[in-house]
Amino acid sequence: MANTISSSRPSYLVQIALRIWVKIHIAFLAFKVYRSIKKVKLVFSEILKINRKVSGGKRKYAVKNGKYWVGLYLPPFPSKNFDRYILTEMNKFVPHTFAINSYQQVNFAITTKCPMRCEHCFEWDNLNLHETFTKDELKLIISKLQAKGLAHLSLSGGEPMVRFNEMLELIRDADRSTEFWVLTSGFNLDLSRAQKLKQAGATGVIVSLDDINAEKHNIFRGHNQAYQFAALAANATNQAGLLLAISVCVLRENANADFLTAHAEASTAMGADFIQWLEPKAEGNYRGKDVILTMEQISEMEKAFVSLNHDARYRHIAPILYHGYYQRRLGCLSAGKSSFYVDSRGMVHSCPFCHSADFQIMDWLNNADKKGKKISACPSY
Ligand code: SF4
Repeated sequence: MANTISSSRPSYLVQIALRIWVKIHIAFLAFKVYRSIKKVKLVFSEILKINRKVSGGKRKYAVKNGKYWVGLYLPPFPSKNFDRYILTEMNKFVPHTFAINSYQQVNFAITTKCPMRCEHCFEWDNLNLHETFTKDELKLIISKLQAKGLAHLSLSGGEPMVRFNEMLELIRDADRSTEFWVLTSGFNLDLSRAQKLKQAGATGVIVSLDDINAEKHNIFRGHNQAYQFAALAANATNQAGLLLAISVCVLRENANADFLTAHAEASTAMGADFIQWLEPKAEGNYRGKDVILTMEQISEMEKAFVSLNHDARYRHIAPILYHGYYQRRLGCLSAGKSSFYVDSRGMVHSCPFCHSADFQIMDWLNNADKKGKKISACPSY
C-alpha cells in the first residue's frame, strides 16, 4: 500500500458544526432568491430529502485547502460555484430567475489512448483509435459547455494522463466556474505532474483501485504495474494538495462487507477524501456478459454503505458515494437531467454505463436549433 498520509477528516464536532453552517447558508440563499418562507421551506425540505437519499443519513464532509466538501460531485463550500450548484437544484423544485448551470456534471473522454486493458472498460470499442479531437477542438467543446453553465467536468478517456500536456492547457485556460477532475488508472501520475495539475487549476483526481490485492487489481486492469501506478498516483495527488477520490468497480465476488470495509480502510489510509463505489454494467468490454449484481449482493452493498458512512466506529473512513444507492431511491441523475457522457469519439450518451450514442457533441454545440438533439432517458432507474 502507498505511504500512510494523515487524513483530512474533520472531527465529529466539526462535522456537526459544518452541517449546521451549510444548512443556514442554504436557507439564507433560498430566502435571498424567493423572499417567501413557504418557498424556502419547500426547497429546503426537498434538498434535505435528496441529501438523505444520496448519503443514507447525515453527510460526512471532507476538508482540504481551507475549504469544505459536501460531496464528490459538488463544488467546495463556501464558494460561488457551490451557491450556483445549489441554486440550480433549487430551481428544479421552485423555478427562479437567478443564474443556474445547464449541467451539474459532464464526463468527457478526451482521448482514445490507454495502456490498460480493463475487464469492465466501457470505452472498449474506441480504445486506441485515432484521436477524434485536436487540443483546440477539446478547448472549444469545454468552453461551449462552460458557457451553458457547468459545475463539474470529469476528464476521462481512455487514459487522460496520456494527453497530459494538452490536458494541463485545457484546465489552465478554462474559466474557474467549473471544478476540473481527472479520472485515471494512475498511469504516469507522479508528484511533479500532480503539482502541475494543481497549478493549472484542477480540483481533484479520481484514481481507480478495484482490489486492495495488487495481483488481483493488475489482472483486472490487464497491466502488471496497474496497482503500483494507482498507489503512486494516490500519494502524489494527496501530496500536491489535490482532492483524492478512490473509485472501485465492485465485482460480484467483492460485493460483501468484508471486502468493502477492507477497501474503505485501505483507501482512507491512502489519503482518500472520498470513495466511490460503482456497480459493473454489461457495457463495453462487459457487453453481453453476466456481470450485473444480484439483489442479495446489492442489499449487502447498501448495508455496508450505510454502516461505513454512519456508524461511529467508522468515523475515520472517508465519505463513500454509492451511485446505485441513490439511483434506486431518486432515479438516475444523468441522462441529460443533471449530467451526461461524451465518449472519446465525441458521441453523447446517457452516462458512461448506458451507451445511447445520441448525437455528436459538436453537432449539438454548433446547432442553434437544439430540438431533435435529445439525450436518451436512463433505461435502468
Ligand atoms: S477502463 Fe479506463 S483505464 Fe481501463 S482500459 Fe478502459 S479506458 Fe483504459
